[in-house]
Order: sequence, then structure tokens, then C-alpha cells
Amino acid sequence: MSELHCEKYNILPSEGNRSRKKVKTPSKRENAKRNRYSAKLLLTFPKCGHVGKPYQPFQCISLLTMRDIKFFYDSFYKTSETITQDNFVLKHCSVTDPKRSRTREQEKNKPKSMSVKYYVKRRDGVMVHVCRQSFMNILGVKKDRILNVVKRYKESNEMPWR
Ligand SMILES: [Zn+2]
Repeated sequence: MSELHCEKYNILPSEGNRSRKKVKTPSKRENAKRNRYSAKLLLTFPKCGHVGKPYQPFQCISLLTMRDIKFFYDSFYKTSETITQDNFVLKHCSVTDPKRSRTREQEKNKPKSMSVKYYVKRRDGVMVHVCRQSFMNILGVKKDRILNVVKRYKESNEMPWR
């Protein structure tokens, strides 16, 4: 700090007054800023090491950049509405029956099995096939929530909340 600068402010009553300023109640805007920031702490690049074809079905780290992940994350958190978020999850999943039972009777008795593929949409619109772990990590949602949404979708065979 230059002498000139000190002079300019030497009319301030005391050092104590200045430090009191720092602990003032944060404004609404500042709070929002903080919340947004802490939400972003969840944003992580996949650590699974899936490099994609021809070695692995998942392309978590080969076809995604941090900006794509942020874009996907921001699209998901554009709303805090659970239904809209659930729909978002569904739009980025593909659900298939791995194998069908031979008879209707068997199908009824067997617990429903399904195979779910997860996709992350890049900024350029390309859907990248990722593993479930990456999908969950990027969006910061729990496995149970995803599976519940998918199960509900599977049972009704439609997206009722579109
Ligand atoms: Zn992966």
C-alpha cells in the first residue's frame, strides 16, 4: 500500500471498524453465488478410465471434456424440479430387456431384469455412452434415484411426466 493510499483513507475511524465490515450479513445475491459455487464442487471428471472402443463399451474419458461435463451438469440443474430432473435422466438412458423369458408365465414370476445404458449429451449434441458410475458422479445423483426413475418408466413404458 502506498503512502498516498494510506493518506486517502486516514479519515477512517479505526481498524476495528473495518474488520466489522467483513462479517456483515451476506446479501441474497451473495448467498446465491455461494450456493452455486458449492454445487459446482460436485463437478468432477470421470475417474473410471473408460477409454471406449475398441476396448470398452464406455467412452467416459475418451469422448468427453470438462466443458461437456459442465454443460451436461448445468442442463440437469437448470431446474430444481424433481420431475423435470427425472425426465432428464430418462432422456439420457436407454432401457432394454437383456433376455426375454420363454413364456408369459415365466415372465410374470421372474423378477424384472433390465439393462440400462447411460448417455451424456455433449455440447455438440453427440450422445456419449458412459458407465453408470460416471453418470451418477457427473450429475451428483444417487443410484437408487436413477433406478427408481428407470423402473417407473419401464413399468409404464412411457414418459408420463413429459
Ligand atoms: Zn466409465
